[in-house]
Amino acid sequence: MTLKVKSPLEIYNLLPKTNCKECGYDTCMSFAAHILDRTAKVFDCKPLVRDAEKDPKAKEALQKILDLTAPEIAEVVIGVGSSAIKIGGEEVLHRHEQTFYNPTAFFFDVWDTMDDKKIEERCDWVVSYKKFYVGKFLTLEGIAVRCTSNDPKRFAEVAKKVSEYGKPMILISLDPKCMEAALKEVSEKRPLIYAATEKNWKEFLKLALDYKVPVTIRCKNLDLLKSMAATFRQAGVKDIVLDPVTEPVGQGLKATFERVIQIRRAAIENGDKDVAYPIIVTPISAWLLDGDNVTKSYWETVIGGIFIVKYADAMILHSTEQHVVMPLITLRFNIYTDPRTPVQVQPGLRAIGNPSPEDPVFITTNFALTYYTVESDLTSANIKGWLLVLNTDGICVEASVAGGRFTASKVKSLLEETKIAEKVNHKYLIIPGLAARLQGQIEDETGWKVLVGPIDSGRIKGWLEKNWPPKK
Ligand code: SF4
Repeated sequence: MTLKVKSPLEIYNLLPKTNCKECGYDTCMSFAAHILDRTAKVFDCKPLVRDAEKDPKAKEALQKILDLTAPEIAEVVIGVGSSAIKIGGEEVLHRHEQTFYNPTAFFFDVWDTMDDKKIEERCDWVVSYKKFYVGKFLTLEGIAVRCTSNDPKRFAEVAKKVSEYGKPMILISLDPKCMEAALKEVSEKRPLIYAATEKNWKEFLKLALDYKVPVTIRCKNLDLLKSMAATFRQAGVKDIVLDPVTEPVGQGLKATFERVIQIRRAAIENGDKDVAYPIIVTPISAWLLDGDNVTKSYWETVIGGIFIVKYADAMILHSTEQHVVMPLITLRFNIYTDPRTPVQVQPGLRAIGNPSPEDPVFITTNFALTYYTVESDLTSANIKGWLLVLNTDGICVEASVAGGRFTASKVKSLLEETKIAEKVNHKYLIIPGLAARLQGQIEDETGWKVLVGPIDSGRIKGWLEKNWPPKK
C-alpha cells in the first residue's frame, strides 16, 4: 500500500483553517479527517473552492489536496444521472488494510440478434432484480449489449432500445463501424465501450476521444496492455478500463488470475500509473466451453466468485439463474462491506407477529447478521413475541458478551428506554444461549427473571414448546 497522506494534518495545512463550518463539520481538522477516510469531498469546502477561482495559491492548494487524496486506482464513471456507477477507486490490495470502496459492477448481456421481446425481458429482469440481505436490497448495475449481427444499424437500434431502461451500459463490438453507429445513438448516456485491441486501437482511441466515453483496452499480453493504456492516456483519454482477457478453465483460468493480480499489484504496490485503472473480467466466457448449460453456469459462478474477491471492478455475465446470481451478489456484498464498521441495525424494540402482553420477550444484539437471522427465525416459525435489540456497536452476541458490550446495565437501560414492562404482563426475559453467563447479573440488575434460550435462534420454537409459558 502506498498511502500518499499519512495524517489529516497534511490536508488541514492546505485548508483555509477558519473553522467556518460551511462544509458541515465543526472544524477544518475534522473535515480533513473525513476527506482522508473518503466520507467528505474537498469541494464541500466552499471557501477554498471560491478562493481557488481568483487566487493562484488557493488553486494550487485545492489541486494538491486532490492529488494527495486521489485513489490509487482511477475511478471511472459509467452511465449518467442517479443510476451512474463508479468502478475502480480502490486504495488497497486487501480489504482488511482499509476497505474496498466500489463494489464489482455486474453487467448482464443482451445481444442484437435476439428478438426484441427477449431483449425487453432480460432488460426488465436486470432493472427489477432485488434481493433483501441483512437489511439492504441488493441490485444489479447494468446491461452489456453485444453486437452479434455485425450490422451497425441493428446494433445502434438495440443500443438505443436498451438505453431507454436508464441503466449503465457496456457496448460490445470490436468493429469500429458498429461501435460508432451505436455511439451516435447513445454516447450521451456515457456507456463503456468494449473493446480496443491490438488491431483496432487507433479507431477506438478516436471513438473514445470524439464521443467522450470510457473505453476498455483488451489484451492478454500485459506489456502491450500497459503500453496501449499509456498511449491512450497520453492522447487525452482518462477513463480507461483494462481487460486482461478471461480464460474460463484450467491453466487458462490460472493465467487469467495471475494477470489480474499482477496488474493490481503493479498499480498499488509499485505505483505504476499506466495500469492503475479498473479491471473488467468476463465470466460470460464460460459459455464458450463445451458442455451443457449447467456446467457453463457453474463455471460462470466460479469465475465470478474468484474475481469478486480479486480484483474485478466490473464483470460481464450471462446466466440469470438464481444459483448463479445469488451467490455472486451475496459474496460481493460481504467483500465490499467496510470491515471498519460492522453492519448494524437500529437498537430498540421490535414487535414480531403482532404480539400480546402474554408473549415472550427476547433480546439480541444489533449486529445485522445476528438480528436478521433471529428476526427471520422467529417470523418463519410463526412465533409472536417482543424482540429487544441491544446496541453492541454491531458486534455479535458471543464477542459482545466477552468484550463488555453486552452487559447487565445496558440491558437494564434498554428495558427502561423501550418501556417493555408496560407492554407485557410478565417479567421474563429470554437471553441468547451464548449470553448465558450474564443470567445472574441481569436478574440482579433488572429484577426480571432471566431464561437462557438456545444458542441457535432456529431452535427457539422447540425451546418455547418446553419452556413457555414459564412454570411459576
Ligand atoms: S468549510 Fe473549509 S474553511 Fe470552513 S470549516 Fe470547513 S474546511 Fe474549514
